[in-house]
Amino acid sequence: MENKILKIHDLHAKIEEKEILKGVDLDLEKGKIYALMGPNGSGKSTLSQVLMGSPEYEVKRGEVLYFHENTWHNILDLSPDERAKMGIFLAFQYPVSIPGVSVGSFLRQIYNTLHPDKKLTPLKFKEYVKEKLDILNMDESYIERFLNDGFSGGEKKKTEILQMMIVNPKLVILDETDSGLDIDALRHVSSAVNAVKKQNTDMTILIITHYQRILNYIKPDHVSIMKDGRISLSGGYELVEKLEKEGYKSI
Ligand code: ADP
Ligand code: MG
Repeated sequence: MENKILKIHDLHAKIEEKEILKGVDLDLEKGKIYALMGPNGSGKSTLSQVLMGSPEYEVKRGEVLYFHENTWHNILDLSPDERAKMGIFLAFQYPVSIPGVSVGSFLRQIYNTLHPDKKLTPLKFKEYVKEKLDILNMDESYIERFLNDGFSGGEKKKTEILQMMIVNPKLVILDETDSGLDIDALRHVSSAVNAVKKQNTDMTILIITHYQRILNYIKPDHVSIMKDGRISLSGGYELVEKLEKEGYKSI
């Protein structure tokens, strides 16, 4: 049986004629948790955007293979929407706001699209999300609010995680979901991620972060360090501790 879900090989990508990814190699195994760390500007967000298929980036070389329904797919040929349908989910570093659409109707639409045979009415959907809101320590009234309109940084992040809980993806990429969260919000977001992971043990998670703190709550099986558009080092949790103590210069 195939135990890998994603294989990134020699990936090169540019934005506005500037080469950012300079040969990324990274394989992810099904059901494992990965941390991707590295200094500012090393290309971490670029990698997540390229994996999701953002049209701003131009892939110059390399391949990204994703295992779905018993076959490997070269996802670089697919639209972001097609990638999402195959179970890839990205929580953005800078979520956008969509004024005029409530959190509830936005999320319910996602749920109903994913479960066309079990569509939920607004009332039933409210019951369905209640438990998820509890894990995130969010009030029920939250879903009446307009999406990201006047939300705090923490609320935006929580909305992304709520969306992730509903989508129940196969591969989750969290791009600095922890940045700007206070200690309580961080704990709630982490519990939500762990709750989804517990239900769906096959889910693979790639956590992009600068800091050790989220990794104290969501324990990575593997840690990779990105530097100047490449993975420069991979290892276990001990790398996180080394970085925290000695900084990126040490590696
Ligand atoms: P990280 O997430 O590791 O901090 P990024 O992937 O965001 O790094 O950025 C990598 C490099 O790409 C940086 O030097 C950044 O300035 C550059 N970059 C990112 N987005 C753009 C853009 N839209 N236009 C030009 N350069 C960009
Ligand atoms: Mg970034």
